[in-house]
Amino acid sequence: MIRKVSRHITQNEPLLFECSSPGKKGYQLPDLDVPAVDPAEALGAENVRDEIEDFPEVSEVEVVRHFTRLSTWNYGIDLGLFPLGSCTMKYNPRVNELVARTEGLLWAHPYQPEALSQGAMEIIARLEAALAEITGMDAVTLQPAAGAHGEMTGIMLIRAYHESKGNPRKKILIPDSAHGTNPATATMVGYTVQNIKSNDRGMVDVESLASIVDEDVAGLMVTNPNTVGVFERDIVRIAGILHEKGAQVYMDGANMNALVGITRPGDFGIDVMHLNLHKTFSTPHGGGGPGAGPVAVKSHLEPFLPIPRLRSENGQWRWDYDRPQTIGRVRAFYGNFGVLVRALAYIMAHGGEGLRNATLDALLNANYIRKLLEPYYQIAYQAPSMHECVFSDDRQAKRGVRTGDIAKRLIDYGFHPYTVSFPLIVRGAMMIEPTETESKAELDLFVDALISIAKEVEENPDLVLKAPHSTRISRVDEVTAARKPVLRWKPAPKASQAAD
Ligand SMILES: *Cc1c(COP(=O)(O)O)cnc(C)c1O
Repeated sequence: MIRKVSRHITQNEPLLFECSSPGKKGYQLPDLDVPAVDPAEALGAENVRDEIEDFPEVSEVEVVRHFTRLSTWNYGIDLGLFPLGSCTMKYNPRVNELVARTEGLLWAHPYQPEALSQGAMEIIARLEAALAEITGMDAVTLQPAAGAHGEMTGIMLIRAYHESKGNPRKKILIPDSAHGTNPATATMVGYTVQNIKSNDRGMVDVESLASIVDEDVAGLMVTNPNTVGVFERDIVRIAGILHEKGAQVYMDGANMNALVGITRPGDFGIDVMHLNLHKTFSTPHGGGGPGAGPVAVKSHLEPFLPIPRLRSENGQWRWDYDRPQTIGRVRAFYGNFGVLVRALAYIMAHGGEGLRNATLDALLNANYIRKLLEPYYQIAYQAPSMHECVFSDDRQAKRGVRTGDIAKRLIDYGFHPYTVSFPLIVRGAMMIEPTETESKAELDLFVDALISIAKEVEENPDLVLKAPHSTRISRVDEVTAARKPVLRWKPAPKASQAAD
């Protein structure tokens, strides 16, 4: 393996397999002081491998350096801002991690008897109550493991509710700006999806909505603020239109961090909604780690909630399974408990005032970025921004530079890219959500980078089109990588066969 030293060594790190040299070891064992056992005899010959093909043979320090160098390729919230929109990659206070690791909570077992789980059950009860208060809803289940899972639970509740009235109905209405999980959810629960168009301000067109709601409509799934970062200001009228025909209103609460402490879905006509605790209430987000998608409902949907439900009996918490109208369980045990602990710690540390301030700061930060970038990038909708702002690449596209190119160039400035090409209804979308945690100094750095890139697009578009320049690999063929992933390493051809 020849390593070129023309680049920073951490950026030049090969695969571990490529570091291998025959006979090298990363460990040393003492001589056996007991008789040797034949592994084939002990384990059965079929369980013993002669050798592992191409197993890397490396020293300890090579292993340590290899993985340490790889770790520097990673981008994390501890390194810098995640401007991704629609999914709130916020910084999560470290103290919540400490709380989640409290011994009694960490080692609690879901099969522990109720009498020994009263503390954990109290945490669940308090979090349910806090989320009910924040959303203005009557009851909450913490079972669903993520937002999409919460959506499915919520739409199942709507189906159970309609079934209890004799007819599950046929359709779920979904605005064209919705997250892809919404139509997927409605379809999985057995509904047909009917799309509704957004108007030129990025909001649901109320007149066209009114013209299609009939008694076949089971409900509307609406995200508020929606995925273009705009508050559906006619939401009360929209809910009224649905309710008049006996339909339900589901709110995708992934953007709840624009509303917490300011307004409550329960007060503007929502019947059922989910929250993403890993977006709004402090759990490390991304990388496929655990999340939680609690579902909050109005009282008419409460009988259908998943079992078990918490019930208080003589000052003790009990699990109640005796609920004849329940949709059943949606998950083993009681939810991702560690995530629930973090969320409650976050909520209690902030208190009502603090949560409201976090929301106001998130809105301020998004609008600060919007104002500073508006002279350089085209804002998608002339409507007030909430916690995120959506630009399009219209101006840069005239120079042949698209949203994906600008995002790649941001990497050279040390920032994680913003959300590229979502929502789909905005051509060349550039979606930015700073969250409340970023300081003005950090926001200024980010804005400076984007302004600098806008100037590069005018003066030297090639620089942007070929970005990133500072990473080990620049552009990859993303389509082929997704369609034909190569997941197994194969040794490179022998030097004599190789072209260079
Ligand atoms: C993130 C998100 C979802 C899905 O939530 P998961 O927790 O990722 O399953 C649904 N809708 C919107 C608007 C989102 O941003």
